[in-house]
Amino acid sequence: MAAFKQLRLPPLPTIRDLVRLYRLRALKQLSQNFLMDERITDRIVRAAGNIQNHYVCEVGPGPGGITRSIIKNKPRKLIVVEKDPRFIPTLELLKEACEGSSQMDIEIGDIRSYNFEKGFETCKKSNWYEAPPPIHLIGNLPFNVSTNLIIRWLQSISEKSSAWSFGRSSMTLTFQKEVAERITAQVSDKQRCRLSVMCQFWCEVNHKFTIPGSAFLPKPDVDVGVVTLIPKTQPLVTLPFKMVEKILRSIFNMRQKASMKGAQTLFPPEERDFLGFKLFQLADVDSRARPFEITNEEFARICYAYKIICDEHPNVETYNFRGPKIQID
Ligand code: SAM
Repeated sequence: MAAFKQLRLPPLPTIRDLVRLYRLRALKQLSQNFLMDERITDRIVRAAGNIQNHYVCEVGPGPGGITRSIIKNKPRKLIVVEKDPRFIPTLELLKEACEGSSQMDIEIGDIRSYNFEKGFETCKKSNWYEAPPPIHLIGNLPFNVSTNLIIRWLQSISEKSSAWSFGRSSMTLTFQKEVAERITAQVSDKQRCRLSVMCQFWCEVNHKFTIPGSAFLPKPDVDVGVVTLIPKTQPLVTLPFKMVEKILRSIFNMRQKASMKGAQTLFPPEERDFLGFKLFQLADVDSRARPFEITNEEFARICYAYKIICDEHPNVETYNFRGPKIQID
């Protein structure tokens, strides 16, 4: 029987080391909040499910707290993508420590331009409609990056491209608790917004647990939610991502008003009343409902009704309402 090399991970740098090495005061501006509690990093990795012998990409490993928890589970290949080169020495130590049980690649750069097709090229592609491939994306990223990233990744999921050209690769990510609640918000929940519907159109979402802000160094002003997203075999819509995004943005832009109000801004002024009425009639949805009172299925019908209207009125698809500043959620 092949003897496995005993995993000996170097100790995490102490808080004092981090303060000295990385000048934490400056790091606060870069939204770098580190998790130093191994029980919490282990729990995040457990939330991702079985990763043994699988392919994992960790986004923003920083000094490597979560990285260590991943390595302990012996993935086949671990790719860490970190923007800040100051972490190279600590990550190199971890790479050395896991030699023999996992392949670890350190990529310095922005996760938004990372080429997953290349990183996972040795992983066999899975059929979308079968079990997910052995690929997991895990990360504790700055809040602004993770929200922006999930929208980009949803687009890739909708196109079955990038990490999703291999099948329904899963994600385990941290968000500001309020954003985690938005992602998973159900109909009529007070946090329900465009992001909730977008995520739930394409993924099964689960708010696994909350990490108190006090667990991070330096401590952020908010608590943090750990969310898993697994792409659905059958997304609720199969229309172009940008079209869906535009429809939801327009409707949720007037959150407290009847949905008809926001939806009408999808159409040029001279056709607004007529096409707005037609949209809800075709979709069989109550136009008086406020956006957060509309179910995912009803939103999907609204999207398809909009597509029918675009096919009949070619000027509609390119129409861009220049109204009040759009709320970012
Ligand atoms: N994972 C570590 C932990 O939990 O202790 C660090 C978390 S810290 C909140 C976020 C990390 O993501 C930092 O190390 C930061 O440099 C890195 N980062 C920020 N933006 C990034 C990006 N666009 N691509 C890759 N890494 C990024």
